[in-house]
Amino acid sequence: MSTIPENFETIRAQIKKAERMAGAGEGTTNLVAVTKTQSHENILAALSCGQRLFGENKVQEAQSHWQDLKMHYPDITLHLIGPLQTNKAGEAVALFDVIETLDRDKLATELSKEMKKQGRGLECYIQVNTGQEPQKAGIAPQDVGKFLTYATQDCGLTITGLMCIPPLEDPPALHFALLKKLAQANHLKNLSMGMSADFKKAIALGATHVRIGTALFGKRSA
Ligand SMILES: *Cc1c(COP(=O)(O)O)cnc(C)c1O
Repeated sequence: MSTIPENFETIRAQIKKAERMAGAGEGTTNLVAVTKTQSHENILAALSCGQRLFGENKVQEAQSHWQDLKMHYPDITLHLIGPLQTNKAGEAVALFDVIETLDRDKLATELSKEMKKQGRGLECYIQVNTGQEPQKAGIAPQDVGKFLTYATQDCGLTITGLMCIPPLEDPPALHFALLKKLAQANHLKNLSMGMSADFKKAIALGATHVRIGTALFGKRSA
């Protein structure tokens, strides 16, 4: 098994190569290191590799690692990549820098209220249910424009991108291409798409953020 520093080296090289093949400028893709379920030791190892951009999918678990670490490393950027309950919006606004999983009106309203209260302006991405899966969170592709208007005009949120988690059984490229099209149509610059198994494809289709866990840290135990 390879070590975390070796994995970072490998993934960074693969990202660079994918950017080159896509004709994208070097460094246009941001690596979001997904640390959910990882030990504190593994997180420290990632920080030692110079990594400063991280993703977590649960508010409480994120607090347990990152509240302290963010004080020691002021240049850390933390993305929420999991579903957010409205009753946790306050805690999420206090800890995270970017909410990638804005997926409904009520959450937009609540996040807006909390950001005003705390004087913090987080960037948000809209999670799009590109596969229109009934059990999956996200705005339906045809509703993105309307929801964007609500989130920005009515709630005053800063929306800078879109994110998606393609259905397991589909070729991911279809979903990445759709997300890219929606971002262009709505003039949004960030595209969070691609995980360990498919990030090269995502970069080929214009990802600005790839969310990688397993390929950096090994298989998750939980
Ligand atoms: C866990 C997770 C990832 C990382 O997945 P890997 O396959 O381990 O790279 C990316 N995005 C989201 C939303 C996740 O929950």
